[in-house]
Amino acid sequence: MAEAAPTDQAQVAPEAQEAEVLEAPERGSVEELLDAGAHDDLDAMRHSTAHVMAEAVLDLFEDAKLGIGPAIDGGFYYDFALPRPLTPADLEAIEERMRTSVAAAHPFVRKEMAFDDARSVEEGSGQTFKVEILDDLAARAKAAAEPLPEVTFYEHGPFSDLCRGPHVASTGKIGPFKLLSVAGAYWRGDEKRPMLQRIYGTVWSSQDELEQFMWRRAEAKKRDHRKLGVQLDLYSFHDVAPGSAFWHPKGQRLWRTLEGAMRQEQERRGYDEVSTPILVSKRLWEQSGHWGLYDDNMFKLEIEGQTYSLKPMNCPESTFIYKSRVRSYRDFPLRYAEYGRLHRNERSGTLSGLTRVRQFIQDDAHIYVRPDQVQAEIEELLDFVQVTYSWFGLSPRYVFATKPDKAVGSAELWAMAESQIKEALDRSGAQYKVKPKDGTFYAPKIDIYIDDALGREWQMATIQVDLTMLPDRFDLTYIDEAGKQQRPVAIHRAIYGSLERFIGIIVEHFAGALPLWVAPVQAVVIPIADRHVEAGRELAAILGAKGIRVEVDDSDNRMQNKIRLSQEQKVPLMLVLGDREVEARSATVRRRGAARDAAQETVGWDALADQLAAEVAARRVE
Ligand SMILES: [Zn+2]
Ligand SMILES: [Zn+2]
Repeated sequence: MAEAAPTDQAQVAPEAQEAEVLEAPERGSVEELLDAGAHDDLDAMRHSTAHVMAEAVLDLFEDAKLGIGPAIDGGFYYDFALPRPLTPADLEAIEERMRTSVAAAHPFVRKEMAFDDARSVEEGSGQTFKVEILDDLAARAKAAAEPLPEVTFYEHGPFSDLCRGPHVASTGKIGPFKLLSVAGAYWRGDEKRPMLQRIYGTVWSSQDELEQFMWRRAEAKKRDHRKLGVQLDLYSFHDVAPGSAFWHPKGQRLWRTLEGAMRQEQERRGYDEVSTPILVSKRLWEQSGHWGLYDDNMFKLEIEGQTYSLKPMNCPESTFIYKSRVRSYRDFPLRYAEYGRLHRNERSGTLSGLTRVRQFIQDDAHIYVRPDQVQAEIEELLDFVQVTYSWFGLSPRYVFATKPDKAVGSAELWAMAESQIKEALDRSGAQYKVKPKDGTFYAPKIDIYIDDALGREWQMATIQVDLTMLPDRFDLTYIDEAGKQQRPVAIHRAIYGSLERFIGIIVEHFAGALPLWVAPVQAVVIPIADRHVEAGRELAAILGAKGIRVEVDDSDNRMQNKIRLSQEQKVPLMLVLGDREVEARSATVRRRGAARDAAQETVGWDALADQLAAEVAARRVE
């Protein structure tokens, strides 16, 4: 997203500059820089193609300096410092040379090299970014009092690259590929470092898969929530607040609708809502254990000689409300929901639209239960998730992550919690997978995933069964039936996840055509002529009284133009009023996306208001 950081536009030719739909999280640490991103055969082929691309770029630009070139979801990229901005013609020329290399079927050969020799090789060829990676590696070894590591290169034909692999056997194993675009990318995601040119490409095992991918990519670009947000007047982004959205009236209405539906559902399910401070002393994070581990992700402030931070999560503060009185086994489950405004200090180079932000609000809750209540509460939560996602026609999938090797808390407690979670998952009939040892050190967890309309997988929210972090570190207790002090279990959970991210995802999933119940404008009244405007306002008032979000198009545009405009704004319903309709106090209803010649029903005003109110209350996807 160009606006996220002050970018040096001159570095990338404008015609080649276009937001790429491939996800490529910025890499900053030396570990990330060395990771080829190749976790299976397809990734290995993708990363191998990145090597071939680097070979072609070096062939065309003698002074090119190489950054890194990992496999990513859907393809690969490689970052280069080049003497001039790349043009689309350059990409064609690079592709052409890559084909020659693939046709030659050069084997990929792994070469081990002593550290100092590797450094001389890179320095000798002017590859300053590679030298920096090696120096970082050396510094890390020194800090750990370890000897300098041996490093590996992968060679194919005339090209050799510092790399840990893995690779395919030869360039001949590379399938049909395509270079996609060029984008500016700061070295190590750091806006103070040089901006490199990142070439994105994709490669697949078959031509068919490549074509499928190109179709999905074109479709994803059309649906880009950053573009649609502007087009539909929902939100915008500005340099003065990187990673934070400005919500326009319609976007805020969408937000409030989602939040309102969640609040209603929460109340029905026995939650109470709380609100805790955003600005808190670092002492809180020292107690929770986040200071020292996570504080780089916090925005810190010095106030009256004390260090404070903007909260990156709501968790520890809910314990203060818990501890405000003595708790009994009868109080549970104690469900505290909170829509807290959170801030996380993500590097500005990594920020993007609503999906990678610095400021966000979660539909968070902390639920305190007795250890024997975990199963019932997880079952309740799985039902909650299922119901919420059905409002959008989405089918959640779950990943159950169990005890990691480094875990805090007794083995009995972990076993007890895990068996209850498993039982709850089995009983709910939910579709789930187990990811062994992938829980956090204090909690087994359930991650919630969906597939969107383009088949893209999104991780949405998480349910964590916290056995120690809040209970032990904040010394939470309750009095059991025998009058003895016991530790509760704290369940952390969100359903939407972050509201920002959720909105970004559903805007893309529906290509902006949001379901009636969430659409910021649900109906536009279209008077055919001026003489119908007054009746139009009367109809709007009747609908408004039933909670329908309605506008009247009283412009001088002709009817067909008015219909086209509200189609462009993806308004679910157009209510057309002419002489006949005004006379009968009715409206001709035209549904968004209906064919021009589709049969249209004419409905009386009051009946229409009742019908729409019922459709909205049902929270369905039409
Ligand atoms: Zn490699
Ligand atoms: Zn939490």
